[in-house]
Amino acid sequence: MKYISTRGKVAPIGFIDMFLMGLGEDGGLIVPETIPNVTADQLKAWSKLSYQDLMLEVFSLFTNDEIPEQDLRKLIQDSYAGFTSPDVLPLTTLNDSLHVLELFHGPTFAFKDVALQFMGNLYAYVAKKQNKVINILGATSGDTGASAISSVRGKEGIQICILHPNGKVSRVQELQMTTVQDDNVLNLSVNGNFDDCQQIIKELFADIPFKTKYHLRAINSINFVRILAQSVYYFYAYLQLPEKLRADGVNFSIPTGNFGNIFSGYLAKKMGVPIKQLVLATNENNILERFINEGVYKPEGFRSTHSPSMDIQIASNFERYLYYFCGEDAIAVSERMERFKAEGQLIFTSEEISRIQQDMTAYSVSNEECLETIQSYKNEFDYLLDPHSACGIAAYKGAGNKGDGAFVSLATAHPAKFDEAIRLIGIEQTFPERIQELFDKPQRQVVVENAKAEIATQLEGFYRVTQ
Ligand SMILES: *Cc1c(COP(=O)(O)O)cnc(C)c1O
Repeated sequence: MKYISTRGKVAPIGFIDMFLMGLGEDGGLIVPETIPNVTADQLKAWSKLSYQDLMLEVFSLFTNDEIPEQDLRKLIQDSYAGFTSPDVLPLTTLNDSLHVLELFHGPTFAFKDVALQFMGNLYAYVAKKQNKVINILGATSGDTGASAISSVRGKEGIQICILHPNGKVSRVQELQMTTVQDDNVLNLSVNGNFDDCQQIIKELFADIPFKTKYHLRAINSINFVRILAQSVYYFYAYLQLPEKLRADGVNFSIPTGNFGNIFSGYLAKKMGVPIKQLVLATNENNILERFINEGVYKPEGFRSTHSPSMDIQIASNFERYLYYFCGEDAIAVSERMERFKAEGQLIFTSEEISRIQQDMTAYSVSNEECLETIQSYKNEFDYLLDPHSACGIAAYKGAGNKGDGAFVSLATAHPAKFDEAIRLIGIEQTFPERIQELFDKPQRQVVVENAKAEIATQLEGFYRVTQ
């Protein structure tokens, strides 16, 4: 298996090189040259596997044996050892047609841990094997940063810098990032919003001399390994369902920001998981809902919501979807992305809109509906949703729930992470100990302006350079 770019100007590379490259050097996103097909028989044979063994099977289709099986197995075992649920990602049944896949039992209580715990270990593995310093750079709307830092703190050969929007992440998210005292961690708190942070990261990765000098590595969902790690739980959820419930296929509702999680589902579907509908849930920052329902991809005014990890306008993984939408035609993708850059929007024809709607449906959840959903599921099922997971459930009700098949709504964060919203409806929760103890720890971060030059200077003082 080789990996190529959505813009067609990266020579095919192997798994580890793809992992290290992150964003394609031509500005595109990396995708596999072909998507492996998992047959129904193979799926059936996997139905009794543990999460870790299932991941090993899925990854083995992509790694070209570049990582010996016993090493890959150990990397996977280590990555999920810190998850508090024995199933790693438990599937909770609310009723026969609605299930919640809880993705938040990792060290930082958000679904980002599922992929990033693994990526942190993989970076450490590659650093050791290749005797390299790994300098990681990432932007976060809150959860990625905490999770990425947790995955590499104190690890030999790795430096990590995370940009977050100053004052626009939840209190717990901020503490999870800034109370880490390891010297290989730098938190930059940017006076701007998440899109500003992401834009700066994109520019730094596109600055080839800078990127090459520091061997910059990505942790954002521009990295295909992250997408792949997330696709495993679509297999897992499907296989965890009782056979009679999954006989007609399965639908997923996915709280969406950067389009990474839902793209992982799209990939799992292409590989052969019998997925019927992928429901894309957005909050009031609904560019992706307008793309799917109206065929207009155009950022509008930024809004702060109860689900800050979804407060995103420009979704980095959108281009991956566009690539498949354009029939894997890199020239067509490049043209559309150029047009988007020049005109600030992309318009799709009505014929194209119906094609898009065959791949996914969408629903945007207002702040009010989000809180109402938390309240009503607490009342009806005594189940406490965090605001992101509530968007998934609200979208299941609003856009999904039409055809056959079981429904799985993805729960992407633990409610304790977003207590600010939960408190608005008068629900009091007890924090897990790992969250409670954060409040007493000292914080460490540097506040910077929304300016590439100032941020580059910070990085130059922090990153290490090898030969
Ligand atoms: C990151 C995140 C999302 C959005 O996921 P994408 O892959 O960016 O679409 C949703 N919910 C939570 C809690 C998150 O941390």
